[in-house]
Amino acid sequence: MRTLLAWLVPACLLPGIIGATTLFIHEYREGRNQLKKDTIQTARALVRAVDNQILKVEALALGLAGSDALAAGNFGRFHDQARRTLAHAQLGASVSLADGQGLQFVNTGDDFGTPLPPHGSPELVRRVFGSGESAISDIFESQVLHRPLVAVAVPVILDGRVRYALTVTILPETLNDILSAQGLPPGWVATVFDSAGTIAARSRASDEYVGQKPAPGYYRHLMDADEGTFEAVMKDGVPVLAAFTRSDVTNWRLAIGIPQESLASRFNRRLSALAVGIAALFAAGLGLAWLVGGRIARSFGALVAPALALGAGERITAPSLPVKEAAEVARAMEEAARLLEKRNATLRESEYRLVLALKAGNTAAWEMDVATMALRPADELLFTMLDYRPEELATSSDWLARVHGDDRPGVARQIDDVIAGRRESYRSEVRILAADGRWRWLLSQAVAPERDAGGRALRLIGTHTDITDRKEAEAEIRRLNAELEQRVQQRTLQLKQSNEALMLSNMELQRFAHAAAHDLQTPLRSIVGFSQLLQQELKSCVDERADEWLGIVIDNTRRLQILIQELLDYSRLDAQARPFEPVDLGDILGQVTATLAPVIGDIGAEVVGTPLPTVMADRGQMVLLLQNLVENGLKYNQSRPPRVTVSAEGWDGEWVIAVADNGIGIDPKYHERIFEIFRRLHSHQQIPGTGIGLAICQRIVERHGGRLWVDSRPGEGSVFRFSLPDGGGSR
Ligand code: ADP
Repeated sequence: MRTLLAWLVPACLLPGIIGATTLFIHEYREGRNQLKKDTIQTARALVRAVDNQILKVEALALGLAGSDALAAGNFGRFHDQARRTLAHAQLGASVSLADGQGLQFVNTGDDFGTPLPPHGSPELVRRVFGSGESAISDIFESQVLHRPLVAVAVPVILDGRVRYALTVTILPETLNDILSAQGLPPGWVATVFDSAGTIAARSRASDEYVGQKPAPGYYRHLMDADEGTFEAVMKDGVPVLAAFTRSDVTNWRLAIGIPQESLASRFNRRLSALAVGIAALFAAGLGLAWLVGGRIARSFGALVAPALALGAGERITAPSLPVKEAAEVARAMEEAARLLEKRNATLRESEYRLVLALKAGNTAAWEMDVATMALRPADELLFTMLDYRPEELATSSDWLARVHGDDRPGVARQIDDVIAGRRESYRSEVRILAADGRWRWLLSQAVAPERDAGGRALRLIGTHTDITDRKEAEAEIRRLNAELEQRVQQRTLQLKQSNEALMLSNMELQRFAHAAAHDLQTPLRSIVGFSQLLQQELKSCVDERADEWLGIVIDNTRRLQILIQELLDYSRLDAQARPFEPVDLGDILGQVTATLAPVIGDIGAEVVGTPLPTVMADRGQMVLLLQNLVENGLKYNQSRPPRVTVSAEGWDGEWVIAVADNGIGIDPKYHERIFEIFRRLHSHQQIPGTGIGLAICQRIVERHGGRLWVDSRPGEGSVFRFSLPDGGGSR
């Protein structure tokens, strides 16, 4: 971490260093150019100072040239005058006069009248005489003062022509002083060169060099242009950067030499300052990186233990760390650990529930590695339910070997099909041999196997559920069912037998009743006949009471006759039954109304029939049925006029025929009982009857596969309804 950060420091600093170096070089070049320009400016200023000095000397010379003494040819006075002027002006070293041949005849360097050598610069004298104007000399050796000098010469014009050349000499020191006065930086040298390039003045060691030519290289550059800079070696062997300019006044040049050494040291100073700065920055950066790296490394090092704890699923407490990001990571890890713990708890809980649910369902989970056919039971129940040790059921073939021979091919085929993808899932109820040697029933099932990207089956996951109890229960139920079936068959046989016996005895009874009724009718008819004869014969000789008793005998005997007739009808219902045929109930009602017409007429009743259907029925019995119901409707009726309405409604494949009256009605508590034979709600005296009519009606309706019932309340009339199947009932 630290090394990485240490590398990061130069990586970050490098662009800055490159930039700073480039800037430094650029600035150095700029500085050098600026120095060159500034030095040229300084050279110009110095040249102007030197020019000023020369011009002052020229002005002095011109002043002396206009002297009266000269005009008067009084050279002695001129000599004195010149000496005084020089002393007063503090300019120039000497004043001399020379004629056109360059012969001197006055020189303030010597006393007046002293014989004088010719002029030190005859060329200067020639120029003055030639041009008639001022001229400035190059440096020359003074014959009088015996030292190098420069001079300004002006013409002395008398009578319109140049008579003399008046020369004012200047000591090079004077110029040296001007140069020195400029206060150039130490090591810098200002040099004045005359028009021939000879050193005329020098700010340093002038005595040594004045009057000499500079080094050849230096000289060549200097004389090559009016102004500029160049690098060369000075006379004293010092390599310099020189800046020079030329004076228009004197045609002299002034150069300022800056030693390369001072320039280099200046550059080096700045370079080393930069290097020190960079090094300091680098060191500071490294130090900081080291410190920060240490903090980061410590912070992240402190995360190792929590990370390991997190991996182990333990609870962790976030350590307080100096690095914010690491602290955040630690907090995130703490949170993750908390969530993980929660999730683990949920997972454990759901696993616990699953195991419980599997146990509750007596189910064991298993998974099979398709490649090795190895069986990995997901819980121990698989073994406990069969009492095997795990190694005894390690592979699916171990398991298959224990499957009942009848079930094995089906199981093996289904598993193959599921693995090959020919079927979605596998489900089979199989018998398997448990360790205790008993067969147990298992419901073995699995969903489609997990496959790799290429579709190859990897593992099969499924369950085994112990269904032995259910299978045994099923077998027990089957056994009981078979037993029950057998019993039912026996019972049915018995019932059939007793039914047949009953039918026989019933028929016997019917035959007996029929015979009895039939046989009773004849004596009854005799009783009635003879009782009537007796009544008529004895009318005159017996008393009234005997007549009344005979009347009662006749009445009761007739009632007995009716009763027996109805009993005969009841008993003959089955015997006289006819095959069903289409019967128009409207016709039947018409027939009934015609039969009952005398009664209807007597009591002024109304029998109304709405459209009635045609049904499959026994015609004679339909007449009996409707007649009984209509007759009851008229009989148990005190309304005036009594009214009976017969209507029909179709319901779900059956007809419901309603016979409604406006009669006395029936208390609901008798609604069931009135259909029993001989059951009557009134005495014979109140309303005559036998109590057989409704019993006959019910047997007829039942024979037709229908039902008969009544809706009624006392005083509100009655509605007797019977249903008949649409297609007719059983025969
Ligand atoms: P009965 O010969 O007495 O009429 P039924 O079997 O026809 O015998 O009737 C049984 C009893 O049901 C009757 O005694 C009577 O009390 C009652 N009953 C039958 N039909 C009606 C009716 N339409 N209105 C009122 N009561 C009735």
